[in-house]
Amino acid sequence: MLSENLSQVEERIHAACARAGRSRSSVTLIAVTKVFPAQAIVDAYALGLRDFGENYVQEFDAKAPGLPELPGARFHLIGHLQSNKSRRATDLFQVIQTVDTPRLAQRLHEQARWPMEVFLEVKLSGEEAKHGAAPESLSVLTAAVRGCSRLQLSGLMTMPPWSEDPEDSRPYFRRLRELADAHHLPALSMGMSNDFEAAIEEGATHVRIGTALFGKRVKR
Ligand SMILES: *Cc1c(COP(=O)(O)O)cnc(C)c1O
Repeated sequence: MLSENLSQVEERIHAACARAGRSRSSVTLIAVTKVFPAQAIVDAYALGLRDFGENYVQEFDAKAPGLPELPGARFHLIGHLQSNKSRRATDLFQVIQTVDTPRLAQRLHEQARWPMEVFLEVKLSGEEAKHGAAPESLSVLTAAVRGCSRLQLSGLMTMPPWSEDPEDSRPYFRRLRELADAHHLPALSMGMSNDFEAAIEEGATHVRIGTALFGKRVKR
């Protein structure tokens, strides 16, 4: 049940915040609704959630017409953005968490019809398939985004290699926080169902949670 799952997640967020000496209000819970139907968003909204994460522009484009008006809802793109989908992304999302090149930033700036909030996706592991900017490129990338008047740069986002043990993610979270501090960025989007408590202890301001709220995703 979503309401029970949400209570449990909230309890865990509160406990992690308490351990870290942080207030609950310093952490935004993003409900990741990829693969689930529009109704999952409506149900989560009814329980008070306002931030939603989707991975694919096309999938959310198909879902969005099934949504009623949800005042105050914010939709975050948390999956890789292909440049041919960037215009549609600026129509559908309020936040793009996966900016990883100056070129993509420039495109979003030119196409956005309202100010877009952005996070820079950082690749901290050597895994070939992953997207994200290299830590060494962040100076150039932050300067590029800060030069785009229609983009509001919030912070950094990352996804550590998947591991059963949340402690394996902790060094990545710590590294992301150091990079954010070095570039004077306040927001940190890190932590998923299996490791969000460690992320909060390491300073996450946004946690992206799917499975712990909605259950296991059936592969498409
Ligand atoms: C799917 C996904 C999540 C949510 O993962 P869960 O383990 O289901 O909580 C978070 N962030 C990104 C980028 C994702 O793709």
